[in-house]
Amino acid sequence: MASAGGITIHTARYVWTALASSLALIAALAIPFAVLVSPLLGSLIALVGLLVMMCRHHAYLARLVRWTQQPVGQSLPQASGVWDLVYSDINRNVRQASAERAKLGAELDRFRDASQAMPDGVMYLSLTGSIEWINRRAAEDLGLDPKRDRGTPITNLVRQPDFVHYLESGDYNEPFLFHPVRRRGAALLVQVITFGDGRRMIISRDVTQIEKLETMRRDFVANVSHELRTPLTVVSGFIETVLDGLEDVPHAELQRYLTMAHEQAARMQRLIQDLLVLSALETGAPQPVEDVVDAAGLVREVARETEALSAGRHQVTVEAQDLCRIQGSAKELHSAFANLASNAIRYTPAGGKVHLRWQLLASGAGEFCVEDDGIGIAPEHIPRLTERFYRVDRGRSRETGGTGLGLAIVKHVLTRHQAELKVVSTPGEGSCFCAVLPARRILPASVDDADD
Ligand code: ADP
Repeated sequence: MASAGGITIHTARYVWTALASSLALIAALAIPFAVLVSPLLGSLIALVGLLVMMCRHHAYLARLVRWTQQPVGQSLPQASGVWDLVYSDINRNVRQASAERAKLGAELDRFRDASQAMPDGVMYLSLTGSIEWINRRAAEDLGLDPKRDRGTPITNLVRQPDFVHYLESGDYNEPFLFHPVRRRGAALLVQVITFGDGRRMIISRDVTQIEKLETMRRDFVANVSHELRTPLTVVSGFIETVLDGLEDVPHAELQRYLTMAHEQAARMQRLIQDLLVLSALETGAPQPVEDVVDAAGLVREVARETEALSAGRHQVTVEAQDLCRIQGSAKELHSAFANLASNAIRYTPAGGKVHLRWQLLASGAGEFCVEDDGIGIAPEHIPRLTERFYRVDRGRSRETGGTGLGLAIVKHVLTRHQAELKVVSTPGEGSCFCAVLPARRILPASVDDADD
């Protein structure tokens, strides 16, 4: 049905037809009276008929006017005659418009929900730069309130000069790295997109973690270079000295130089070896190889190696209950346990005690501890010990052949086994490093035990 100004052409035709039939009715009543009784009576009847018709139409029109003043979506009450057709037509249009509005509303809601659910911050700015809409992520990133700050110019709320300059520059080809003062330490990659008649959308992505990783990578490269540079400088220095006067260098002196160069080469080798282990742990499969490891056997093997490393300078004792086996990588666990034990030897002066212990805890977890009465560690260092290249005393670590990567390797291995490293230490009294393996990695000592 064609529509003109909201009312259908059909209805407009009905109005004229109804008007014509009303007039015809009045005429049909009035003319016989005018001809048969008196023209005056006929005119009176016609006048009264017209008045009644006008009053009726006026009442329906007034009802229509009252309806237009009511909230949108209300339907018109029932009417009679032609007004019933007009009202029904209007009601149908209202219903269609309401359905259309509801559909548009639902689409808008879906669009808003999608923008809210985006992992990135999204903000729409008006032509004047005021916030028209902002999702939760953007509000959190920039420290704004989505309701309170709507309608406020963004540059009144985020006033950092670099941010304001980027927004006002109009050059949005490249994203802009922003460090909001309201979120200390955070880094956001902000990109402005212009659309429509010059409106702007701001997308912000939290890159704090990526930036931290980038800093860590840079620090790591710097640390490795530094660690390699020192022994390399020593080795090349010796070679130069020897080359400059090979004939003049006494044999004993040459022997000393070569021994020192050999030590430095061994140091570089250890460093490379530890770096390779660390990189294999980082890039290897997410799950360690699932061997069934004889826990007590592993601890006793580590104890034997520890005694060999100490070469009689320490009293090494071991206590390992033959109660269970560990599900995990034999190679990785050996490397972690041996690292803890070798540290105990290296940081305990000669004559000290080193005790290795493997036990089952009441919770079902398994615990491997290395206790020493060595130099100990001040509390402020303990949380940072597993960072790569972190050393309490750089000189002592080097003297004892340390690379600064041992505990980083231990931490990695334990994380891969969902295990935890616990450190208790008192400077001057000694330390206790414990690796706690979760109960689900502990198996009974033998199949027979499992059947019991
Ligand atoms: P390093 O090769 O320097 O020993 P690690 O990562 O194994 O590197 O250890 C980091 C630091 O933790 C060491 O430099 C040392 O200062 C400290 N540390 C580790 N184990 C002990 C221990 N048993 N007693 C005292 N200090 C220790």
